[in-house]
Amino acid sequence: MTDPIFELHKVTVRYGSFTALSEVSLQVKAGERVALIGPSGAGKSTLLSLLNGSLAPSEGQVRLLGEDPTRLSVRALRRIQRQIGTVYQQFHLVPNLSVIHNVNAGHLGRWSLARAMLSLIVPLERQSAARALADVGIADKLYARTDTLSGGQQQRVAIARVLVQDPVVILADEPISSVDPERSREIMTLLRELCDRFNKTLVVSLHAIEYAYSHCERMIGLRAGHVMFDLPAGQVTPGMVEALYRIRKAEA
Ligand code: ADP
Repeated sequence: MTDPIFELHKVTVRYGSFTALSEVSLQVKAGERVALIGPSGAGKSTLLSLLNGSLAPSEGQVRLLGEDPTRLSVRALRRIQRQIGTVYQQFHLVPNLSVIHNVNAGHLGRWSLARAMLSLIVPLERQSAARALADVGIADKLYARTDTLSGGQQQRVAIARVLVQDPVVILADEPISSVDPERSREIMTLLRELCDRFNKTLVVSLHAIEYAYSHCERMIGLRAGHVMFDLPAGQVTPGMVEALYRIRKAEA
């Protein structure tokens, strides 16, 4: 049997005296599509940072692709992180570079510094960048300046960059929050289809619950750093969602 992609055992994360995640235990298996839902401040981004190895737990154990990131050398951790691609709400692209450079940034974990520097002068790997752009539906934008693209197109560039990285798992942190509402469904459908086609596990945090239901088969509900439920999407009732977002009297 293969190891889970992610395994958290009683993980707590503190920022100073503030507890952002409290005793979270969960596993994500290969091929799953998991939505993280919950109000702002619930701990979704913190959980995604644990999953991509950019944050260490204050307590508890994390395993990424079977490895304990806190015991790895910097080099070994980078090797694991190459297998974990992240798509962000704000795209994290370099706006004044052409699209091909931003897509090729997906290679950076594998390229030497010299090759990375050279790629800024002569775009390398034109073919793989062009293929990834075709996969995300904007083949004609290879040489466009990134900041001339719409929000939805920029998110497609960020997804193309992850395809070039070719990780085993894609993490997406509110990937449709900076995209026009009309484009949100397209971006979510694209993410789902690419994960199916290229056999990638997906963990995505979402504000829009309807996409958690329609595009993911499992939902993890977070509130104030606690996992309130972790269920197949079909078993999450409107009442559970309402309780997740209910404003406490003290907060109102
Ligand atoms: P979400 O993604 O669900 O909105 P976050 O994981 O971003 O939640 O944040 C969870 C809580 O931790 C929030 O109350 C937030 O203010 C706090 N927090 C996040 N990052 C930091 C940090 N670097 N330092 C202090 N507090 C933080």
